[in-house]
Amino acid sequence: MTKSGASGPKARARARQKRDGLTYTQARRGATAGARGGEPEGRFGGHEFEYEQATDLFRCTECRVYEVAARDTGGSITPCPGLVGYGGDTERVYLLLTENPAVPYSLAAFLASRIHDSGIGRAPQFSWRDGRLLVESSPGVVAELARRVEGITTAVGGRPVPAVSAVEHLSAEAGRAVIAQNRAAYVAEYGEPV
Ligand SMILES: [Zn+2]
Repeated sequence: MTKSGASGPKARARARQKRDGLTYTQARRGATAGARGGEPEGRFGGHEFEYEQATDLFRCTECRVYEVAARDTGGSITPCPGLVGYGGDTERVYLLLTENPAVPYSLAAFLASRIHDSGIGRAPQFSWRDGRLLVESSPGVVAELARRVEGITTAVGGRPVPAVSAVEHLSAEAGRAVIAQNRAAYVAEYGEPV
């Protein structure tokens, strides 16, 4: 079986990259990648700045702060506190969700969207693999997020069933290890993401 062609895995990966688009931060990261070396959060302190047409400014999609406000007079940037719902807590914890095996289709996009809508959790890049979705949150709100996730249902044969069959609580370290494993599996199959 070939991996090229319009419907192969590489085509799907390309389609996903196109759908997700390229944020300002990613573009700037790409442009300066060689110069900075292994700095994990880059010179933007973890913020994901995107252009906002209404104000003609760059605004973080996570904490909603404007880039001009995140810079102090020295030009350096304050680290991103993450989602507004985290209440300024920079500590991270994770939930590893197992999709209900009784549901005959993947719920990854549906779950990621519902979790994002909650405002207290998000699915980072490389968060899904083999029916499991890793979700980032912060210690103060993770219990509430877990409670909401357990209440998410989907319809199978006209009947509501739980979307998730298991919710596992992970430390920051364990969560990051899952992302690293998922990323390695992605690279092994599709190559380095652009
Ligand atoms: Zn931010």
